Amino acid sequence: MGGPESRRDVGESLNRDGTRNMTNSTQLAVIGGGPGGYAAAFLAADLGMQVTLIDEAADPGGVCLYRGCMPSKALLHVAKVLTEAREARAWGVEFGEPALDLDRLRTWKEGVVGRLTGGLGQLSTQRGVTYLRGRAELLGPTSLRVTRSDDIDGDDEPVDLTFAHAILSTGSRPAVPAALSLDSERVWDSTRALDLPSVPGSLLVVGGGYIGLELGSVYAALGSAVTVVEMTSGLLPGADRDLVSVVARRLDSLCEAVRLETTVVGLADDGDGVRVTLEGAAIDHPEHHFDRVLVAVGRVPNSDIPGLERTAVQRDARGFVVVDGQRRTGEPSLFAVGDLVGEPMLAHKARHEARIAVEAIAGHKAGFEPRAIPAVVFTDPEVAWCGLTETQAKADGRSVQVARFPWAASGRAMTLDRPSGVTKLIIDPESEQILGVGIAGSGAGELIAEGVVATEMGATAADLRLCIHPHPTLSETLMESAEVFFGQSTHVYRPKRARKA
Ligand code: NAD
Repeated sequence: MGGPESRRDVGESLNRDGTRNMTNSTQLAVIGGGPGGYAAAFLAADLGMQVTLIDEAADPGGVCLYRGCMPSKALLHVAKVLTEAREARAWGVEFGEPALDLDRLRTWKEGVVGRLTGGLGQLSTQRGVTYLRGRAELLGPTSLRVTRSDDIDGDDEPVDLTFAHAILSTGSRPAVPAALSLDSERVWDSTRALDLPSVPGSLLVVGGGYIGLELGSVYAALGSAVTVVEMTSGLLPGADRDLVSVVARRLDSLCEAVRLETTVVGLADDGDGVRVTLEGAAIDHPEHHFDRVLVAVGRVPNSDIPGLERTAVQRDARGFVVVDGQRRTGEPSLFAVGDLVGEPMLAHKARHEARIAVEAIAGHKAGFEPRAIPAVVFTDPEVAWCGLTETQAKADGRSVQVARFPWAASGRAMTLDRPSGVTKLIIDPESEQILGVGIAGSGAGELIAEGVVATEMGATAADLRLCIHPHPTLSETLMESAEVFFGQSTHVYRPKRARKA
């Protein structure tokens, strides 16, 4: 059983001890098939390299496609439809209470994932990438062994592979601090929550970061009474407060409670739910009871790659693999990308790093030096930013000018009944260059792409002001923010400022 899943046959040879092993050599081995890994493998194949991609799953995709970005965005789409259907009452349309069919919802979501990962499998085959399904162990700086995960009977020999270069892209997994570690089906991590096991009557979300807010919003829209606890003084720590307050206001009405400066210090399954002990300045009574608990307090890198100790790869105190500007590790033949090498743990950062690493391996001049890595929190409304934030500018003691356009002055936002958003530009007061962009509101995740282009290309506020934006769209809020900078926004009155000579 368990014939080769690889998309190209591998050879077979005798080991020194007489056992028979599948062996092969490849120019580039990529360990981990997430957005960093498959992007690296595909680009390398496009550049003419012979590539082997290794992952335990049936097809490439990684956490993002199987247990992260994609299933969560499918569910967030449903959550938005549910919320808008309820809100439509105010617009004179009555749908009645939505009836949920959890099995069909789950099947639809899994269908989305299946189509996407299947598509990646096809793309991999089309490019002639050898896909080895299994778990890799490094045997040294230029060799590895793959234990097959498609070997149902356990009688397939491992595959040994030698390579000129390898890219490590093994990603990350949810962090589970000791106080939140409880072996109970009532305590979920994000993977479990995305399986949609049930819609609990009450759900405690521990962590007011990306995952807590996105999945908390999904379950609140599906009908759970959601409480979010966040240990710091605000949701989405690190993001600008004026952006966060837009989503925080809506979460206040969507959720049962949002408790800041609150920490979970104990969890116990009482057979009927989870008894939770909270600690924090504003906690009147510490003991609470929830049907389910979702723990979303960050992620840790999967840097415990078997055999890594046989190489010169270094890890930092948090377990991230240390890399240089081309994503090369301390071992010259090994590169690393994505969550494995540090924050921000975002699929698009991994994908860009993959490009840099592959180009470096191909001998091109390449370096990882983005001015603007976009971040998007796909709540409703979305929160997105790129480049320099106001918070960061303040922390760095850097003087910036902020031009803010409130969506209450946007016709398009009004027609969507979403006037509470904001778009802002962070501008260098001397050069008038756009250093960063922040947006909170419907579709902010799409809109921020313009901010990325403007920031990366060193556009000035005048450049953005002079670009004709289509009317009526939310994209006009970017142009109008630039107009605000000059005190000339058509829809916002601001006292005039002197133009630079
Ligand atoms: P996160 O770092 O975004 O948020 C974790 C939050 O938990 C923080 O606000 C932190 O202060 C809080 N926290 C930590 N310990 C706590 C405790 N004991 N009690 C209460 N609060 C506590 O982490 P995440 O939400 O788990 O997401 C992990 C990573 O996955 C993110 O950093 C992000 O890079 C990535 N991600 C991105 C997206 C996206 O791009 N839309 C979506 C999901 C996840």
